[in-house]
Order: sequence, then structure tokens, then C-alpha cells
Amino acid sequence: MSSLLLANLRLVVTMDDEGRELSGASIANQDGWITRVGEVSPSDRFDETIDCSRFVAIPGLINAHHHLYQTLTRGFSQSVGLGLFDWLTLLYPIWAGLDEEMVYASTQTGLAELALSGCTTSADHLYVFPPGSDAFLDAQAEAAGAVGLRFHATRGSMDLGQRDGGLPPDSITQPREVILKDSERVVQRYHDPGPGSMLRIGLAPCSPFSATPELMLETAGLAREMEVRLHTHLAETLDEDEYSRRELGVGPVDFLDRVSWLESDVWLAHCVHLQPSHIQMFGERRVSVAHCPTSNMLLGSGLAPVRDLLNGNVSVGLGVDGSASNDGNDLIREVKQAVLSARARDGAGAMPVRQALRLATRGGAACLGRDDVGCIAAGKAADLALFDADSLVMAGTDEDLVAGLVLIAARPDSVYVHGRPVVRNGHLVRLDEEALAARQRASSRLLLERWREGASL
Ligand SMILES: [Zn+2]
Repeated sequence: MSSLLLANLRLVVTMDDEGRELSGASIANQDGWITRVGEVSPSDRFDETIDCSRFVAIPGLINAHHHLYQTLTRGFSQSVGLGLFDWLTLLYPIWAGLDEEMVYASTQTGLAELALSGCTTSADHLYVFPPGSDAFLDAQAEAAGAVGLRFHATRGSMDLGQRDGGLPPDSITQPREVILKDSERVVQRYHDPGPGSMLRIGLAPCSPFSATPELMLETAGLAREMEVRLHTHLAETLDEDEYSRRELGVGPVDFLDRVSWLESDVWLAHCVHLQPSHIQMFGERRVSVAHCPTSNMLLGSGLAPVRDLLNGNVSVGLGVDGSASNDGNDLIREVKQAVLSARARDGAGAMPVRQALRLATRGGAACLGRDDVGCIAAGKAADLALFDADSLVMAGTDEDLVAGLVLIAARPDSVYVHGRPVVRNGHLVRLDEEALAARQRASSRLLLERWREGASL
């Protein structure tokens, strides 16, 4: 039982339904939950009180799409530029060398960087399961617990290898029965559906070009039986559209509808290439979208129609996507990218800064099916990012601190998850950054060594 008062904040950006921004307000917390936002009576007593008069508070950011293991191969292959299919074909054989230690190190590295950028909840989509991968999700659960972020691991899967006309090598695909059995196991073992949950599991066949229709259909059935959410990639590139029409006889969205996926328990990464009828269908069926602007631009996939999705009442969250197509884990910078990419596509009025911030908070919460995070209000979890308004990078932003911190992509001074500090003075509280970097470098080197040895055999 502990109480914490963040007193006299320069500004509290609540992201509530009215979009209230409160000057000089305090945030009172009890046992990880916000109990009051506004004025606090001088007679109220707290275990800890922190003077926050130089800080701007926003709800902790929510990352709706990621492949944390890709932090092992960031920067690789993209100095010149490759589209999605060529890029995947190059990287799949490298990722085939993944082991548990690498999954552990990369999960911590990615989540740690996300925390340092103001993120308090992250999804992940791990879909590479080479031989020896039985405990990959277990390694992720342990790694995430040590960083202290809320974690939505999804048990990804691929059962359509090159032998059967898919894109990935057969060595990193698994038989459908194995995938479904392990999916059931990890949901039973780790999924906590309750309020304030630190760990949830979703199910996530990778894409129409690496998962069979049977796997899509049966995974959806299992997820609904076990009451967990469904996630996949969709309509990311024109290559995917062409593949889907050639191999499946319909476009990717119609394929997903055919396998019973277009329901309110589904969130889809990318959705760059959509028709107006698709957007209408997503809005009516409450399908959510994870927008990944940096990845889409880096791979030359296109600019997602985010303005149209929002106009069509579709919930849109933000994702940094895998670190091999970003190549960082910086979510506040992704908010800026969402502003830039929407304006580049549809004009200057297409994405106000506060709306982009809403994507990374309320939109992300909608993608992950949560109503306990994404907003600073009494009754919500105390997940907060505090930015120093008196820091050098923020100097000159007083007239609009929110636009300032987003467009500068400022780094938070402190980050709280369930009222517990995860970042303080701009550094991780629970992990040694140098030691983590060394562990990650060792894993990355070993992964590339394995690939080179295999390639030379
Ligand atoms: Zn992805």
C-alpha cells in the first residue's frame, strides 16, 4: 500500500474525452491507481510527494505494434533501400538463428528504449520460431517483467513456407498443430485479463503470405474461445496485394473477412493500401489499426490513409514496428512521424499534434482492448510520462508545450508504470543500461556469426 503525489505540474495533458489540459494541477495516486487530478487538499497525506512544477505530464504512451527481436538486426540491409518482400527474404535466414538468450536480450533492449521515450505499455509480435524456440514467449515474459513495462506479447506464427508457395524459409515455419498447442499453453500460463494487468497474450499469425487460411481460421477460433485478442499484418504493400490476388483469389482485406477476422477483437498493423469500402467496414465492425509511419516510409510501402480511417470512426494506434524497419524504439518520435506522414499525404490540416498524441495513447489502448490506460483521470492506472519544460530542448516552447514536446520528440525525465518509476532523470531505474547494451551486442554478433557460418557451409 503506497501513495504518491505528483504536485503542481506545469501542465497535465489528460487525453480524456474532453481533451482537458490543466495548468498547475496535481496527480494523486494510491497503489498504482490515479485517485485525483487537480487540486489536492493540504490536509491529505502521501507516502511520497514530488514537486513537479517544471514538468508536463502526458499519459504513458502505448506501442501497438512491434517485433522486438529485430533490435538485433537494426540498420542491417537498409543503407541502400529494399522493399518489404526483398528485405524479409534477406533477413529471414538471419533470424532463423534466434535463440532464447537473444529473445531475452532484445526484448529488454527494445522495451527499455521504449520506456526512455515515454512508453509504458507495449505490444510485441514474435513470429519466428526456429527449432529450439519452445520457450521464446516465456523468455519474453520474464524479460519484460524485469524492465517494468506493461506487455502485450502476441504468439505469432507462420505455417506457409517456401515449399508451399509462401515467402519464409521452411525452417522458421511450424506445423499448425504445434502453433495452436503452444498458443493455448502461453495464454493459460501468462494471460492476465484483469484491470491493471502487466502481461497479456494475443494470438497473431504473421501475414497472408506466411500463414495458411486454415491457420488464420483456427487461430481466430482459439482466440475467441480463450477470450484473447487477435493481431496480424494487413495491406502493408502492393506486393502483398498482388500475392493475395494471385494465390488466394481476393485482396488481403477480403481474405481476412473470409477467415472471420474482421471483428472488434482484432487490431491490424499497417493498412496502407485500403479502399473506401474497407475503411467503412473497419469502422462498422470496430476493427482497430496500428499505424507504423516510420516503417512504412523506410520500406517505401506508402503512406497509410490515417485521416480517412479517423473520419471513418476507426480506432488507430501507433507502432514503432520492428526495429529492423525503423530502426529505433522511440515512440514519441513516432508521434511526430504520424504528424509528418499524414501531412505529407493529405495536407497540413490532416493531423493536428494533439490528435497524433491521442493515437499513441487512447488509440493504442483501443487496439489492445484496454480501458485502464491511455488517459490521466481518477480510476485509471498511474502510467505517466513527465517531460521537463525547463530543459534546454524545450526552451522556447512555452506557448504550446504539447506541440513543443511532440515536434521536438523530447525525451521524458521520468516515466511511471502503475505508480512505480521505470525511468528517472532520463535513465532506466531497474536495469543497468551499459550492461544491457553489452548483452544485446553479444547476442547480435552471435546471430550474425551463425548466419555467416551457415551461409558458407
Ligand atoms: Zn510488423
